[in-house]
Amino acid sequence: MTEDYDYDLFVIGAGSGGVRAARMAASRGKKVAIAEERYLGGTCVNVGCVPKKLFVYASQFPEQFYSSQGFGWSQESHPTFNWATLRDNKTSEIERLNDIYQSLIDNSGADLFDGRATVQDPNSVVVNGTSYSAKIILIATGGWPFIPEFPGSKYAISSNEMFFLDELPATAVVVGGGYIAVEFAGILNGLGVDTHLVYRGDKLLKSFDREMSQKIAAGMQEKGVKLLLNTQITSIENDADVFNVRTNHGNTVKSDLVLYATGRTANTSGLGLENTKIELRKDGSVPVDGNFCTAEPSIYALGDVIDRVQLTPVAIQEAMVLVDHLYGLGEAQIDYNNIPTAVFCQPELGTVGLSEEAAMKTYTDIAVYTSEFKPMLQTLGGGNDRITMKLVVDKASDRVVGCHMVGEHAAEIIQGMAIAIKAGATKADFDATVGIHPSAAEEFVTMREPSR
Ligand code: NDP
Repeated sequence: MTEDYDYDLFVIGAGSGGVRAARMAASRGKKVAIAEERYLGGTCVNVGCVPKKLFVYASQFPEQFYSSQGFGWSQESHPTFNWATLRDNKTSEIERLNDIYQSLIDNSGADLFDGRATVQDPNSVVVNGTSYSAKIILIATGGWPFIPEFPGSKYAISSNEMFFLDELPATAVVVGGGYIAVEFAGILNGLGVDTHLVYRGDKLLKSFDREMSQKIAAGMQEKGVKLLLNTQITSIENDADVFNVRTNHGNTVKSDLVLYATGRTANTSGLGLENTKIELRKDGSVPVDGNFCTAEPSIYALGDVIDRVQLTPVAIQEAMVLVDHLYGLGEAQIDYNNIPTAVFCQPELGTVGLSEEAAMKTYTDIAVYTSEFKPMLQTLGGGNDRITMKLVVDKASDRVVGCHMVGEHAAEIIQGMAIAIKAGATKADFDATVGIHPSAAEEFVTMREPSR
């Protein structure tokens, strides 16, 4: 017991941000509780980043089988794919990670409650019928897939269900133009599903560099995804277990599965926040100040539920900053600029800093360096993949303000580049760096002449 409260900190939600906050606060000697109604590790571990990446790996094997032939390999028989094996092996791996999360929480000394927690008042939480008082309550309940309502929307599934399908469909329609839509379109297509990607706008991944987005659209089509841009779904009808997916252009696509990847909204409904001064935004997210404090001084929130940047590493960093603010020196800061990110579509995107379009609005004069080439694997392996790289430079300071890549290993390469960008590297620093040969990444330090 601490002061007059059962807990110093009561965390609602054991996802990436919540668990990190609970463990760090406990390691500072605080009495901590964490409640989770669903699964330990949250979206990222259970129905997001981790299982998605495993599916991406699975979907890339056909290209690798194909490439291997030019290097002298031959397969005695045509490789076949078993969806149930992938799905169940993935689930076993996720269960292993759930256990690790359980141990991490147990070893930290925090109390874990298996149940839905609701806020009773600014200093108490009810879970499994018992009320606990807490000096600080942290809302870390994450987000949930959003599917718009329209005729037949009940037939659409979200990314949550994609990880547990009984069978891999023969045909699929994926709706949306963001991270999840392009990633799942690539996975399905790679696994041999006849895949349509339907997006209402004219540019996939609209918040990213336009040229990179165009390369991704072209690369996805090259690999077999049927892309329908500027297209809205008007209805879905169920016709003997095949869905007739009708578009605003009067077309009908027949499909075994319709995946809606149309964004994620804050997971705040039924949380009891009406018992506090907190007023949710229209989209359901929780407004917080620079220290993650809500309108209620004893309630904090972080991660996807505050709808700033919906990325696991951001939630984890927010948790560390918050714990330092509450129980440490209060010196830790989070900088939302230059957050590197990757989209595991195929071809893959890695990016940090400003897009060319954003840099043009921010700086008076920029130089843009680009390079496009064939990956070395394809010299013998065949295939039509390309790698595109771009550096955006503020001419006045010579600082590299944007770094983008589409192609193999983009995520791995951009993570390293992000340190340079974060440290304020100039184009001269890039030029003075010796390349690693032969690699694709060396191109980032050998681009001498601006393209524009
Ligand atoms: P996004 O916000 O990235 O994309 C949502 C897409 O759905 C947009 O293209 C949007 O169109 C479209 N859309 C929204 N409403 C409708 C509608 N009513 N009808 C048709 N289309 C609609 O969300 P995601 O669901 O893809 O992902 C959620 C978040 O999860 C991401 O923003 C990202 O932060 C995170 N994430 C990160 C990953 C990673 O790091 N690799 C992987 C997966 C998710 P429009 O553009 O026109 O608004």
